[in-house]
Amino acid sequence: MALNSWGLRPNAPAAQEIVRRDRQAELPQVEGTLLPFGNGRSYGDSCLNSGGTLLLTRGCDRFIDFAPIDETRARLVCDAGVLLAEIIELFLPRGWFLPVTPGTRFVTVGGAIANDVHGKNHHRAGSFGNHVRRFELLRSDGSRRICSATENANWFAATVGGLGLTGLITWAEIELRRVGSDALDVSNTRFEGLDEFWAINAAAEAQHEYAVAWIDCLARRPRGIFMAGDHVGGDGTAEPAASQARRALKAPFTPPFSPLNALTLRAFNTAYYHRPLPARARSPLLPYFYPLDGILEWNRLYGRRGFYQYQCVVPKGAEAAIDEMLAAISTSGQGSLLAVLKTFGAPEAHTPPGLLSFPLAGATLALDFPDRDEETEALFARLDAIVAAAGGRLYPAKDARMPRSLFRAGYAKVEEFARFVDPKFSSNFWRRVID
Ligand SMILES: Cc1cc2nc3c(=O)[nH]c(=O)nc-3n(C[C@H](O)[C@H](O)[C@H](O)COP(=O)(O)OP(=O)(O)OC[C@H]3O[C@@H](n4cnc5c(N)ncnc54)[C@H](O)[C@@H]3O)c2cc1C
Repeated sequence: MALNSWGLRPNAPAAQEIVRRDRQAELPQVEGTLLPFGNGRSYGDSCLNSGGTLLLTRGCDRFIDFAPIDETRARLVCDAGVLLAEIIELFLPRGWFLPVTPGTRFVTVGGAIANDVHGKNHHRAGSFGNHVRRFELLRSDGSRRICSATENANWFAATVGGLGLTGLITWAEIELRRVGSDALDVSNTRFEGLDEFWAINAAAEAQHEYAVAWIDCLARRPRGIFMAGDHVGGDGTAEPAASQARRALKAPFTPPFSPLNALTLRAFNTAYYHRPLPARARSPLLPYFYPLDGILEWNRLYGRRGFYQYQCVVPKGAEAAIDEMLAAISTSGQGSLLAVLKTFGAPEAHTPPGLLSFPLAGATLALDFPDRDEETEALFARLDAIVAAAGGRLYPAKDARMPRSLFRAGYAKVEEFARFVDPKFSSNFWRRVID
């Protein structure tokens, strides 16, 4: 079996041993280095370990304990190999949902912690790690630590967003939140120009739980659709998640080259922007949070060469950098169907929990790019320069190429973090940015 990351970059995986994790077992004794592998939904090389061993965690997927804390919150203890999709499947019909979820539900609890993933409600709820109560960390010396914000707090901070490098998370206790139903009230607003986006976003964040925009990154003047959402109240019961997801399609094959070029992308984006759009609609929960999960293995549509995702965040006050980046992308004619713009900025109670947590108060832009060699590299160099000048950073979970200097400049606590890295653990990403 060969394992790759979601971006399918063909040069990434090289030979790596694969070991399935056995729940009872200690870490396997291996030659070379080890890295936990969740469900491979990271785009770049942070979940790969060429020349070393990947420890598959998906087989460890027990639900261990569940109990309501109060009317609105519950605690769930489960193995780190449990998928968020499995949690939703079991608990949404009972009126419980994840307090923070990324744009795909096919990620493991361990992977969500190791990248401290964020969702469309960062402005209210912070990141996934803000809702992790504790977990067990197993190190290669056989030691086991219970880590929480108060117990082994330094290990907790290193492991949340710690890219799987501090040891194996065996199980975790996370919070779930009460939802009244499995539906959301969604409002859609078209905008033209980023000034309009900032204004809509400020008002939406004050009013709505979820707020995110799709951007037409190829338009001469940035334009897009702003989508705000709120859970619909109800009687606490909901349709089983499986029935909401029943009609998932699958990309039929991997084309030899990407059908996504400037022409097709512009045509798609224009049609998408102008499509009939209700200003307000009631939506089932899954399609709102996970639009891409409706097409299984959509990553193969980029062809055999795979693709990159570029996700950056620039601090509050440096938003002009987003204009600059979008201008550079539009001029280059490269870009994607999938371009997302959102602001981060959690309330004080939800400050970034990890030493390497990606979110920071400001604006985040995420785009996919087919791999077009030098052309793409030249664009990335330009974008990197804009991000660096703005004091921003790139998201390791999405990255397959960021220069070492940009990683170090973006993550001020990297030296502190490095002290917690397990001597037996490593990844392609880590060797690329640190060695
Ligand atoms: C369509 C799509 C949409 C996405 N949207 C978002 C989004 O909105 N927000 C966001 O933040 N991210 C998003 N992502 C990225 C994704 O959420 C993260 O990359 C996530 O961490 C993947 O989890 P995984 O279980 O697949 O882990 P993998 O990708 O397999 O591994 C990720 C990291 O976790 C480590 N790891 C896994 N299990 C363990 C464990 N048990 N113990 C210790 N370390 C472990 C690995 O070593 C690796 O470093 C998206 C990805 C896709 C494909």
